[in-house]
Amino acid sequence: MVNRKLVSDYLRQQYQLSMPDFIFDNNGSASVLKAFYQVSLKNSAQSCQEKKQYRRGLPKPQKPESITVQKEKQVSISSRLSALKPIDKLLPGISGKNLSSKPQVHLSTDLNYEQKRLALKELYIAGCDKCHLAQTRNKFIFGAGNADARIMIIGEAPGRDEDIQGLPFVGKAGQLLTSMLEAIKLDRNKDVFITNVLKCRPPGNRNPEAQEIITCFPLLERQIAIIQPKAILLLGRIAAHSVLGINDSIAMMRSKVHDFKGIPVMVIYHPAALLRNASLKRPAWEDLQKFQTLLNDSGIYGYSK
Ligand code: URA
Repeated sequence: MVNRKLVSDYLRQQYQLSMPDFIFDNNGSASVLKAFYQVSLKNSAQSCQEKKQYRRGLPKPQKPESITVQKEKQVSISSRLSALKPIDKLLPGISGKNLSSKPQVHLSTDLNYEQKRLALKELYIAGCDKCHLAQTRNKFIFGAGNADARIMIIGEAPGRDEDIQGLPFVGKAGQLLTSMLEAIKLDRNKDVFITNVLKCRPPGNRNPEAQEIITCFPLLERQIAIIQPKAILLLGRIAAHSVLGINDSIAMMRSKVHDFKGIPVMVIYHPAALLRNASLKRPAWEDLQKFQTLLNDSGIYGYSK
């Protein structure tokens, strides 16, 4: 009898391990399998059709472009699948039974890229069902970007699009965030790691409750401890209040450099607020430029450490 959970965790790991950046998709295994089966089905349907045409003496049909592309995909996915190693060889001490056990990587002050990826992966695989949001969420949205980024971007909580896709900032506010980062020459896949204070969507996109923040905060702290960013950008009031522990308005907190455990932190208006109120765009742009200056002045700029 196949242990489906073990296989799916195992495939998900393989899928993530082979990615250059630490970009999570909570459904990674499912997408690999789905793509694999879709390709197999398409190819077998195509070869059946070809055989029938051939028997009827008709010329062999030309392969449509999409099938060629799909076939290429199949090669890479099949070769990935054939290179699978047992899960316990990938993460020592982790098996299908204890995937949510304590982290296996003990943090030292200086982790290299692979150690960071591994430590984040353990945290991701462990998942979380510590609060009631685990009952209403669709996906646990851990974060995305480069495990070794010098910059962390922290938002409030996933919204509807994020909950569907399993990735942070992929809706309208996310698109705006991507452009804002590009405007200061940051690539969201290479230069930063993006996450939220809450890893699960509050129903109906309501504001996070204090108890939810308290429950979720240790996970964010652990992410920060692993990634060891050189600067943090907080998006909006909730992220600022949670991380900095102060209750001021954004107007009071913006344009200043704050501190979180020795890491310089800046606060800007949340991209969703900019979508609702265009008059905030100018101050947000000024703040982004200040953040860029901070990165430049402290030699943080650039993503290769
Ligand atoms: N708003 C957030 O704060 N985070 C997301 O991931 C999406 C929208």
